[in-house]
Amino acid sequence: MADFDADLIIIGAGPAGLTAAQYGARANLKVIVVEQLSPGGQILVIDRLENYPGVTEGISGYEFSLALYKQAESFGASFLTETVMSIKKHDHFIVELANDKNLTSSAVILATGSKPGLLGVPGENEFTGKGVSYCATCDGHFFKNKKMFIVGGGDAACEETSYLSRLTEKVVLVHRRDSFRAQKSLAERTMKNPKIEVRFNTIIKEIKGDKTVKSVVLENNKTGKTSEEETDAVFIFVGTVPQSSLARSLGAKLDESGYIFTDHKMATNISGFYAIGDIRANAFRQVVTAAADGAVAAHNAAGYIDETKSKE
Ligand code: NAP
Repeated sequence: MADFDADLIIIGAGPAGLTAAQYGARANLKVIVVEQLSPGGQILVIDRLENYPGVTEGISGYEFSLALYKQAESFGASFLTETVMSIKKHDHFIVELANDKNLTSSAVILATGSKPGLLGVPGENEFTGKGVSYCATCDGHFFKNKKMFIVGGGDAACEETSYLSRLTEKVVLVHRRDSFRAQKSLAERTMKNPKIEVRFNTIIKEIKGDKTVKSVVLENNKTGKTSEEETDAVFIFVGTVPQSSLARSLGAKLDESGYIFTDHKMATNISGFYAIGDIRANAFRQVVTAAADGAVAAHNAAGYIDETKSKE
C-alpha cells in the first residue's frame, strides 16, 4: 500500500474546510489542513453570525471559527500554515507548498473560498487602506463618528452597513439598482434603520482624496445627474471572486465566473478532487451550506479513499 503524507488534504480552513476536517478525522482518515492565514476564512470578519441553526444568541465569527478549529483538531486533524502553489495528480495527489516541500494524499478537498470583488473605479486602488475598505469589522473603528459611504446591494452590504451604522450618526448606502439583492429580512431591516440613508439607482464614479479619501463622485443612473460629496471612508461590498486558480491549473471544470462545478457528492470532474463552500458553482454561500458541503465532501472522499486503497 502506498505511504502518503495523508489520506486527505484539505486546502483552506474556513467553515467548509474545518467541517470537512472534522468529518474526515472522525472517519478515521489521516487529515492535513493547509491554510495560509488563520483558520476561519471570511467568517473571521463577521461581527455577529446570527443565522446559523441553533445558535440563537448569535456568535462572533472569530469565536465560531475557533470552535470549529478546536473541534476538528480534537478529532485528530493536523494543521499546517503554508501557501499551496499547485496541485498535481498522478495516481495520487501531490500538493506543492511555497516552502518547496510537497504533500501527498489519496484525495484533496479544495475550500479556498473567495475574496472581495473590486468596484473598478478611479481612486479605488490608490486609496485602499487609506479610506477604501472591504471589511467593516476590520476597519470600521478607524471611522468612528466620521462620514462613511457603503456600496452594494447584497447580504454583505446590508449586514456590514448595519454594523457601520452603530459607529456613527449616519451612513450612506448606495446601490446601483432600485431594490436590494439581499435576503428580504435583511433588506427590510436596512430600509428601516434610521441611521442608514439608502440611495438607490446610484453609483460611485470616482473616489477622490489627497493622502486619504476626501470625497466621492456620485451619479444617479436614472437621471444622469452627478454630484460630489465629502466622505472619510468608502466600504465596498460588491460580491466576491472565487479563489479557484489551483483548481483551474489542475483541469477542474469552472463556470464563466471561475466557480468550480461539482456534483451532489461535491466531487469535481477530477476523481478524488472535491470542492466546497464559496468556490463551488451554484452554491448558496452561507456558513451553514459551507459546513454542509464540508461534511458531504469528507464523507464521499472517505468512500473514494477506501475504494482506491482496496484496489492497491
Ligand atoms: P452578492 O450577493 O453577489 O451581491 C453583490 C452586490 O453588489 C449586488 O447587489 C450587486 O448589484 C452589487 N454590485 C456588483 N458589482 C457592482 C459594481 N461594479 N458596482 C456597484 N454595485 C455592484 O455579494 P455579497 O453580498 O458579497 O454576498 C456573496 C454571497 O455571500 C451571497 O451568496 C450571500 O448570500 C452570501 N452572504 C450571506 C450572508 C448571510 O447570510 N448573513 C452574509 C454575507 C454574504 P446587483 O444586485 O445590481 O447585481
